[in-house]
Amino acid sequence: MADNRLYEILGVNRNVSDVELKKAYRKLAKEFHPDKNPGAGEKFKEISFAYDVLSNPEKREIYDRHGLEGIKEGGGGGGFGGGASMFEDLFGGFFGFPGMGGGGRGRGRVRKGEDTMHPIRVTLEDLYNGKTTKLQLSKSVICAKCSGMGGKAGANQTCRKCSGRGVQVQLRQLGPGMVQQMQSICSDCHGEGEVIRDKDRCQECKGKKVCQETKILQVYVDKGMKDGQKIPFRGEGDQTPGVEPGDVIIVLQLKEHDVFTRKDCDLFMEHDISLTEALCGFQFNLKHLDGRDLVIHSKPGEVIMPGKLKMVEGEGMPIYKHPYDKGNLYIKFSINFPENHFASPEKLKALEELLPSRPHTEIPTGEDVVEVSMVDYEETKSSGYGARSEPYDDDDDEGHPGHQRMQCQHQ
Ligand SMILES: [Zn+2]
Ligand SMILES: [Zn+2]
Repeated sequence: MADNRLYEILGVNRNVSDVELKKAYRKLAKEFHPDKNPGAGEKFKEISFAYDVLSNPEKREIYDRHGLEGIKEGGGGGGFGGGASMFEDLFGGFFGFPGMGGGGRGRGRVRKGEDTMHPIRVTLEDLYNGKTTKLQLSKSVICAKCSGMGGKAGANQTCRKCSGRGVQVQLRQLGPGMVQQMQSICSDCHGEGEVIRDKDRCQECKGKKVCQETKILQVYVDKGMKDGQKIPFRGEGDQTPGVEPGDVIIVLQLKEHDVFTRKDCDLFMEHDISLTEALCGFQFNLKHLDGRDLVIHSKPGEVIMPGKLKMVEGEGMPIYKHPYDKGNLYIKFSINFPENHFASPEKLKALEELLPSRPHTEIPTGEDVVEVSMVDYEETKSSGYGARSEPYDDDDDEGHPGHQRMQCQHQ
């Protein structure tokens, strides 16, 4: 009997072309992606698995000939991405194959192991362009040799020290008539209530029931993903007999970017131009996150004021799951003014003729008219309004007690 399940999962027939297969997969993967459809994690994994097999010509041929069993047997050889545990996860869980769950791994009232978080550092470029990265992690897997029993069948014996309770109770005499009861995890069985005799222990796992395995996870960082976004890998946590493994959750951590800051799908940056550029026009090149050079220029005759915010439409971040739509790029301009005495009085006169005329100010006369001079004022060096007529060196606050404090009190 031909096994059609993987084709059915993707809603295609057996002689589907590669192109049609990919199309069908994309459509379903979009629909059932866990971020969009959190309840559909199993379905998504099922779809991914079906596509993983059918999009690989070798695996597809094996599957067409021998069905899922064929894939399972060929699986150990390395061709199958997830390895045996992934296989069990998928088929034990999705298809309910009898005997495949093994070792009490059937779903139902099974305890679930803890989820483990793994941060990965990404750049803004990664989130703009998308990226596939591999994460290597070490995890406990159920020992394949003893199927998580720790030894031969019947090798497990009830721990004598704790009578199988896993805890020891000790009584301590504190004083006359005072006894403290202390409970601790049994030192012989480490709380399991069972022990395995040395000679009966599984040689592979030394009776620990699990082995350490290095696992490589392919992490797909999609275009438009955000700092702190979580990418879950269901059931990839440590395996323990009788416990459903928890999830491995990848958390994206964005490194700061030299030029851009991101807010939702928009990008912000600051750009300095000279006064000449602000008045006469400018052009500059901006290396974008995908390597393109954006040439940005002012319009003819346009004057840029200090702090002016301008927008380049559609040059922000791609929108997650809609990567062809993008936010905007905002540029805030600062103007670098020339230094004092940058031109001779004659040249300034010539410049003045080009600029809008200055306002005319009537200067009053009489005894009450006082002409004063200004000094440069730096906020950090002053002790507040009216404190002194001259700025003074005040790098060390402790050095000016009394006098200055009193004047600061009203602040
Ligand atoms: Zn014990
Ligand atoms: Zn073992």
